[in-house]
Amino acid sequence: MTTTLAPQEVGHLIGGEWVGSGTAERYNPAHPGELVSVTAVGDASTVEAAVAQPEWSNRTGPARAAVLTRAAELLTVRADRVAVDLVREEGKTLTEATGEVQRAAEVLRFFGAACWRADGETLPSATPFTAVYTRREPLGVVGVITPWNFPIAIPSWKIAPALAAGNTVVAKPAQLTTLSTRRLAECLAEAGLPAGVLNLVHGSGALVGEALVAHPDVAAVSFTGSGPVGRRIHGLASERMARVQLEMGGKNPLVVLDDADPVRAATIAAAGGFGLTGQACTATSRLIVTPRILDAVVEELANIAVRRYLPGDGLDPEAQMGPVVSDGQLTSNLRYLELAKAEGGDVVTGAHAAQGLYQTPAIVTGVTSGHTLAREEVFGPVVAVMAVNDLDEAIAVANDVPFGLSAGVVTNDLRAAHQFAAQIAAGVVKVNRPTSGLDLNVPFGGIKESSTNTYREQGQGALDFYTWTKSVYVGID
Ligand code: NAD
Repeated sequence: MTTTLAPQEVGHLIGGEWVGSGTAERYNPAHPGELVSVTAVGDASTVEAAVAQPEWSNRTGPARAAVLTRAAELLTVRADRVAVDLVREEGKTLTEATGEVQRAAEVLRFFGAACWRADGETLPSATPFTAVYTRREPLGVVGVITPWNFPIAIPSWKIAPALAAGNTVVAKPAQLTTLSTRRLAECLAEAGLPAGVLNLVHGSGALVGEALVAHPDVAAVSFTGSGPVGRRIHGLASERMARVQLEMGGKNPLVVLDDADPVRAATIAAAGGFGLTGQACTATSRLIVTPRILDAVVEELANIAVRRYLPGDGLDPEAQMGPVVSDGQLTSNLRYLELAKAEGGDVVTGAHAAQGLYQTPAIVTGVTSGHTLAREEVFGPVVAVMAVNDLDEAIAVANDVPFGLSAGVVTNDLRAAHQFAAQIAAGVVKVNRPTSGLDLNVPFGGIKESSTNTYREQGQGALDFYTWTKSVYVGID
């Protein structure tokens, strides 16, 4: 289904004004000839203009809450339109995009409510007649750098807690998906966020992203994206002792034990592996299965892949899985399948589908720990199936990667489920649920190369990253 929507201009948002004319063109991944947006391209001077600290931190909590809550209402009212923008620039299905926009609105609402709560504690003092309390202070100007795969949800779960805590934000969205982030900024501006409290800067990571990370007045940087970029950002931020939070890739395992129902297990695997076109950091990319159930799970997963994950334009109601985000990503996905074959894997299903950026869901059996497909993040609808003998071996294989983001187990054995939760090296553990999909009020993050593992995102814990603790002693005699 093609639409007749005109291409949208996306400028930088600096000091409350949309500035800069666009040169970076983004085409619809479902229709490569359809121009979706034209975005301004900045450099270090753009970042310099955006880093400022207008009055916001001294607004009361309830005043900040009013802005975030109103923005949530505006985004809810506009959800259908914003979801169409999101589908056209990123590619996911309309159902997935609508869910993402609603999630962004809920995140605004959640952190709006958080503004109302007390933000410190009172403590007993060793000195008589002395009251002691703590205050959570905002950091100042914070930088937010986000990827393309959740172009409105991830910016919202970084920007909302930063604003709730009283910070000013300079955000740099991924170049492929600037329009969805603009829609979020529009809601906040119309909800009464003062000019300059949220700024958006666009351009390359090397120029604009690094200028933001290196800026001496940016107190902290929260980044979600790939490992190599995260490592670079960590180096730049740490050099000047700025606070930094990184959430990066995954190689998320789903373990299926012999006692499981194969249909249920395959349904959970498919949702985690093929939902969102596999383009989620928490996507299932390794299916680790014990012997008696192995063939039945693979057969069922192959059936589900064909029946329930038909690729197509996300705006087409028939489409069950959107296109891959870009030509480069599709080439990379298909290259991983070729490599898997060369290394001895068997590609049961999965190929470039006919035309455009469409790929059918891929299942590769016969993968072992030494294979590239068992170790590297693909970031597409590709599930590597690995055979193991028992739970102990499954956990050992699952942990034998440099990542530790999300992990799941499918079993009815309570003891096995608890052993898995205790011994798996991952920040998120799911029992009888897909590895992807998170609640917004629950801490989220990984370990090993998936995360800096210092501060968690989402939930109340997100506010810790954006604040520092001041201890106050008051003599009362
Ligand atoms: P990416 O690392 O290429 O880009 C992410 C952001 O960093 C973009 O805004 C980009 O412009 C910017 N950037 C690039 N180079 C930079 C530099 N040198 N300095 C500063 N900024 C720079 O990632 P992507 O391709 O947009 O997203 C896919 C990756 O994101 C995958 O690896 C995925 O696992 C990861 N991801 C992780 C999570 C999580 O929460 N753990 C969530 C979603 C995506």
